[in-house]
Amino acid sequence: MKKSLVIIFFCFLLLSSFQCSRENASETPKIYVIGLDGADWDIIDPLIKKGELNFFKKLKKESSWARLKTFKPTLSAIIWTSIATGKTMDKHGIGGWFYNKNGKKVPLSNADKKVPSIWEINDSFGNISTVVNWFVTAPPDKIKGIIVSDRFKVAMNQVLRNPDKFKSYINTVYPGKLYSRLYKILKEDFDAKNLRYAKIIQSTNIPDYVEQYKIRYNENFKEVVVLKSWKRFVFYDHITEKTTEYLLNVSEQNLFMTYFRMPDVFMHFGSLFLEEGYLNYINNKIKKEGEIITLEDKKEFEVKYSDVVCPILKHKEKIVEKIYNKAKKEDAYILILSDHGFTLDKKGYDHTGLSKTTPPPDGILMILGPDVAKKEIKASVYDIAPTILYLMNKPIGSKMDGKPLVNAFIFKKNIKYKEYIKKKQVQVESSPELDKKTIEELKSLGYIK
Ligand SMILES: [Zn+2]
Repeated sequence: MKKSLVIIFFCFLLLSSFQCSRENASETPKIYVIGLDGADWDIIDPLIKKGELNFFKKLKKESSWARLKTFKPTLSAIIWTSIATGKTMDKHGIGGWFYNKNGKKVPLSNADKKVPSIWEINDSFGNISTVVNWFVTAPPDKIKGIIVSDRFKVAMNQVLRNPDKFKSYINTVYPGKLYSRLYKILKEDFDAKNLRYAKIIQSTNIPDYVEQYKIRYNENFKEVVVLKSWKRFVFYDHITEKTTEYLLNVSEQNLFMTYFRMPDVFMHFGSLFLEEGYLNYINNKIKKEGEIITLEDKKEFEVKYSDVVCPILKHKEKIVEKIYNKAKKEDAYILILSDHGFTLDKKGYDHTGLSKTTPPPDGILMILGPDVAKKEIKASVYDIAPTILYLMNKPIGSKMDGKPLVNAFIFKKNIKYKEYIKKKQVQVESSPELDKKTIEELKSLGYIK
């Protein structure tokens, strides 16, 4: 009896000294956050089962993972801002895509945010963040570190084709000197004709959906919502990948966040490429009055649709793997997440504009890193910012709507609370041309009539 007590005591000593050393060694651990808009377990899981997406399979096995609960209105700009702030849209101030100003639609911008984002909170502790393409980040917050705003890619689409416009968009990136550096890198690629749609899809193994559509439907692809902007979105995601890879190699920070739009954009039109007989069958079922979409219909659709979405997710696996490899070397945490998934009901396959009784479709979450519990957990989009603060050993925002996901980890830390307020409000910037482009894009996606 005595002997075993002694052993237990020594085990306890050993364990506590180990925990102490971990805490001391990583006062502010490094965290990587990867956003994959629209990524959905109901699409990923069938592919893992079929032996595709082996890297996602490995990630899921190594992670604390969740079906990430999300909320209505399930619009990307709102939810990604909730993820970055830990707060509901009423609190963070981004309640949609645009507002009306003198009869004109103006996209909501970072200047409309009422509460600090996680990178501003990180800045308030003297820490450095790198943020790439996160929703509603233009004009960028002036923090320690780097913000490549979500308007940078839109700007590059202009500037690469028309270098005279170079100076007009410097403020899409902070600090401004990074804008020139990124432009130089992209310009080289552009001049080598690597940024053409045909070249990008060839190098990324993404099928040519525009061509496939023309062959199969013998119609003008420009009449199809979202597909008509597909080439531009392929370009945008490529710019974001290039920027992410570059910054991954050169920048030093404790918080790195990057966001990719592609899964969502593709999933809005990809069902056009389902096998013809099945597509007709399910379309009839959706349109026909009195027909019910059952759980079995939903499952069958997802299994079939996952084959169509596969090349897009396989492509995204590669950038996720690059970030993973870097994070692993640094003993960092990685959070991989989406703002929502998709679901099938009588209104179609979507994440917004669904029947009133359909709950908003869950997104994905995987948390990887030292002492992660490797099990399924419950989580919502509001829990991400509190969890990042928890990992950083910082107080949780007392007005945040989520909680730190303590079950995701083997360790338990003390939780403190503090109210974080916005210290530096960025000013609204008038950029009529970019505003116009952004509104046009929202229309092409069917988000604005
Ligand atoms: Zn989204």
